[in-house]
Amino acid sequence: MNKEIKKLSKDKLRILPLGGLGEIGMNALVLEYDEEIILVDCGLLFSDLEYFGVEFIIPDFTYLIERKDKIKGIVITHGHEDHIGAIPFALKAGIHAPIYASPFTSLLIQERLRDHGLADRTEIKTFQVGDLIKFKHFKIKTVSVNHSIVESVALFIDTPVGKVVHTGDFKVDPTPFYGKQLEKKIFEEAGKNGVLLLLSDSTNVEREQHSISESYIYKKFSELFDDAKGLILVSMFASNIGRMGQVFDLAKKLKKKVAVAGRSMDQNIKHAIEAGYLKTASKSLIALDDLNSYNRDKMIVLSSGSQAEIGSALFRIGIGEHRQLSVGEGDLVILSSRYIPGNEKAIGRMINSFFKQGAEVLYEAIEDIHVSGHATAPELKQMLKWVRPKFFIPVHGEYRHLVHHARLAQSCGVDSQNAFIAINGDVLELTENSLEKVDHLEDTRVLIEGRAGNDISRLVLKDRRQLGEKGVVFSLLVRNQKSQEILSGPEIISRGLVHENQEGWLVEEAKKQVIRVVKEYESQLHQNVQLIDLQETIRLELRRFFNKNIGKKPIVLPIILDL
Ligand SMILES: [Zn+2]
Repeated sequence: MNKEIKKLSKDKLRILPLGGLGEIGMNALVLEYDEEIILVDCGLLFSDLEYFGVEFIIPDFTYLIERKDKIKGIVITHGHEDHIGAIPFALKAGIHAPIYASPFTSLLIQERLRDHGLADRTEIKTFQVGDLIKFKHFKIKTVSVNHSIVESVALFIDTPVGKVVHTGDFKVDPTPFYGKQLEKKIFEEAGKNGVLLLLSDSTNVEREQHSISESYIYKKFSELFDDAKGLILVSMFASNIGRMGQVFDLAKKLKKKVAVAGRSMDQNIKHAIEAGYLKTASKSLIALDDLNSYNRDKMIVLSSGSQAEIGSALFRIGIGEHRQLSVGEGDLVILSSRYIPGNEKAIGRMINSFFKQGAEVLYEAIEDIHVSGHATAPELKQMLKWVRPKFFIPVHGEYRHLVHHARLAQSCGVDSQNAFIAINGDVLELTENSLEKVDHLEDTRVLIEGRAGNDISRLVLKDRRQLGEKGVVFSLLVRNQKSQEILSGPEIISRGLVHENQEGWLVEEAKKQVIRVVKEYESQLHQNVQLIDLQETIRLELRRFFNKNIGKKPIVLPIILDL
């Protein structure tokens, strides 16, 4: 991101999504007015490039780093990874603003900062849901919404150009397990007083049925738990405290014991108890090691790993390699979470292995054992009708979700030119009467390798992809530095292309190609002519050779050692 960005116009509110628009994940929204910047959320995106070593993707913070003295706060809507996961990387990149988060969310953030050795690096200012956060140009009221993690908030932001409402991730749940019903009155009131801009969650815009309440799960689990003849293994997102609360309540009621498998779930349960949730947990919680002291039909195991992540507790139980727990005939496995797109195959394999071990498995495709935390079209319509914004930007969605949501807004009375589809990197400016795109940042993402968090460049990724797809061939020659004569070689080594035991002839033939080039080179040596570029000629000849013989152009690395 080297190009000069258009200067912020006076009296305009700049809105710059660094992530979350055009994909589900990596939410980060810059709000900038005069000499003040607020960042709303700072999340990561789990990568589908894991075969190339990319574990996740974070926003490119260059824009913020270049203006770091202006950043006055990072305000977090809730504790999901796609909203908080990039905070440690923002701090490492040199952003030093206080972080504003609810009590439970703060605990999750602190843990991530500790993991990265950054615990003392910044201040976390904890707000209670409903509190007002004041900056010079921005006054932000946090408003409770329903979602699949406790203490999710929408932000009502008073700015010098007008009121901006950011829904955060939300659904309208008449009977949430924790927290209040979403208070439509607050949204309606804002609408009556005039909302300039609404930014709203687009995840489930394609769904036509109103989302199902979290407490439906209680009924469903109650039936399943009651009927269970063996151990019950329930997996869910490790952050879904509301759903865990239901499991603990049912366990108490049915006099069953609950053990926890998986580090992230273990930690989140501790944080939730500290923040005042899971009040019945202490009655039924036992250590995983103590499972064998109870009858199998008295046991419930809560496990993380619902996405079949390699190494997760559920994955290891699935393949029969968990130290403390195995499942078999009579046991019930409940996968109470959605499949994150891209994980379907891995989850499918995990389900197969549970069945192979004799357990019964329930998952979303065959049984209603999961409800989404995101509003569907009818709720999104309600939101638009309550808030009645002048301008509308759909957020938190893939591009098609944004398109559908913008159309929905138009059907709810937003002027067609005011329902604005923006993507990551769009530099937008808002006034009382206008919303326009004034610039665009090209690269808004950074690829992160492993938990240690090294970023890798796109060029490295391109190399890895090519190495994976095409293999590599080394050609080695030793040359006399003075006379420029070839002393020995060529030696040909290949990886990921042909197997030398089976297709050794190919390597031998390849060697002959190099020898031919070397001969041409040597004959030129003794004439007074322009020498061929030995390295480049070998590279081209070998690529041509392999392409002709096996239909693949490998990466060729011709190495000439001058002695
Ligand atoms: Zn969320």
